[in-house]
Amino acid sequence: MGPIIAMICGHDTSNQRDRYYVNNAEIRAVTAAGGVPILLPYMNDEKKLAAALDFVGGVLLPGGVDVDPHLYGEEPIRGLGRIDPDWDALDVTAAKIALERDIPVLGLCRGMQVLNVAAGGTLWQDIPGQVTEALQHAQKAPRWAATHGITIEEDSLLGELLGSSMRVNSYHHQAVKDAGDGMRVTAKAMDGIVEAVEAPDRRFALGVQWHPELMVDTDAVQRKLFERFVEAAAATRKGIATASA
Ligand code: MN
Repeated sequence: MGPIIAMICGHDTSNQRDRYYVNNAEIRAVTAAGGVPILLPYMNDEKKLAAALDFVGGVLLPGGVDVDPHLYGEEPIRGLGRIDPDWDALDVTAAKIALERDIPVLGLCRGMQVLNVAAGGTLWQDIPGQVTEALQHAQKAPRWAATHGITIEEDSLLGELLGSSMRVNSYHHQAVKDAGDGMRVTAKAMDGIVEAVEAPDRRFALGVQWHPELMVDTDAVQRKLFERFVEAAAATRKGIATASA
């Protein structure tokens, strides 16, 4: 059996709903890479979340709504979108625990921002309102389509996996501003917007601003992110007994 990957849930409160969910594209990408996904919802109890993470090899932080700027010491500007305190409490706490325990962690879009905030970093609350001359980062093209280029630091984990440049899809109006403690910016768009961060002194702590899970069917290179993540998760759990081999 492959390593258990904690799929941190998103929180859907639209149309008077109240439910936790994970997008199938993320489940499919993790499963195809050999991981065994389990879903972790908000439990209103940090100790239970910490205990649940005892049993996993990796943590996947999903995309979603905006991060509360209070978490990085700012007041909300007018361009801030929807925020969700329970969702923040779930994934920021999970990211902190993953970094503390050195559990492999992969952040997608909001998940990258959460990883950075968990490490003490800051965000742009609204790119169009705060960054002049920024490119279009909220694409209107199909979900899987790459619409802007990025340059990648070659001497990084991301560079090792993906090379020095590529084109990616883009669905965000927030972005990393200042990198958190131990975090290194390893990819940027042509306008300087941060597109990836990683923690070099961790086994695997990587966040990407795009959505590789939506690109894996059409761009095989994107699968490497999930494959290396699951590999790191398996190595982390090696030696610990699992229910079945
Ligand atoms: Mn982008």
